[in-house]
Amino acid sequence: MSADPLLSVDSIDAGYGDTQVLRDLSFSIEAGEIVSLVGRNGAGKTTTLRTIMGILQPTSGHVTYNGADISALDATETAQQGLALVPEERRIFPDLTVTENLELAAHGGTADDSLSVTEALEMFENLRERAGNAGSSLSGGEQQMLAIARALVSGADLVLLDEPTEGLAPYIVQDVMDIVAALNERGITVLLVEQNVQVCLKLADRNYLVDQGQIVYEGTAAELEANEDVLDRYLGVT
Ligand code: ATP
Repeated sequence: MSADPLLSVDSIDAGYGDTQVLRDLSFSIEAGEIVSLVGRNGAGKTTTLRTIMGILQPTSGHVTYNGADISALDATETAQQGLALVPEERRIFPDLTVTENLELAAHGGTADDSLSVTEALEMFENLRERAGNAGSSLSGGEQQMLAIARALVSGADLVLLDEPTEGLAPYIVQDVMDIVAALNERGITVLLVEQNVQVCLKLADRNYLVDQGQIVYEGTAAELEANEDVLDRYLGVT
């Protein structure tokens, strides 16, 4: 391979107190890719994102971003390096308007290529229409869009998306997928965690299957779709 990966996760162990969740887990992402982590409930996908972001520290192994070891950094420091996590619970400020939510995220941003609040509102049509509305008045899909838009205005180069389609109506799932594709076209690298394997198969360049805290399979959508044994064994979708 010609260039180093943008993100490299090498043999990490991580967990909560005495509970080890990730075991010798390794994978990598090239700049510009959409890569997914798929797997059943409790497989360790969220824990992987938290460990990359620095909310949890690995007890062994390394996380390397842009050639630098970020294993010991906390979440504020990894954000300064260009990482953003959009958690499953979509932490937006309910009492602030859409515009204020974006302005607050933009405040901390340092990257020159980050999206301005105005540009974000242009890109997210349904947010533009609700720019003056409180976060709490948004639908689940709109809150997800706002959470993603906040990551963009923060200047992130690598966005970690935790189950962005969870709990959303099917037609909104498509909107969220379109937005993920659009931000990737702007050059943002995406690590996508999903239980909805169909979303991964449509969006991701490569998919890693996580089971019991380990990567058990890697493949493109076509490879994964052709592998009924793996789909059945680890995802129960055949
Ligand atoms: P989900 O879709 O349910 O979030 P996941 O693949 O993201 O699944 P994780 O959330 O990473 O899985 O959870 C992996 C394991 O870690 C589970 O057994 C879970 O019970 C445990 N776990 C998660 N958070 C904590 C915590 N704060 N303290 C202790 N154990 C936890």
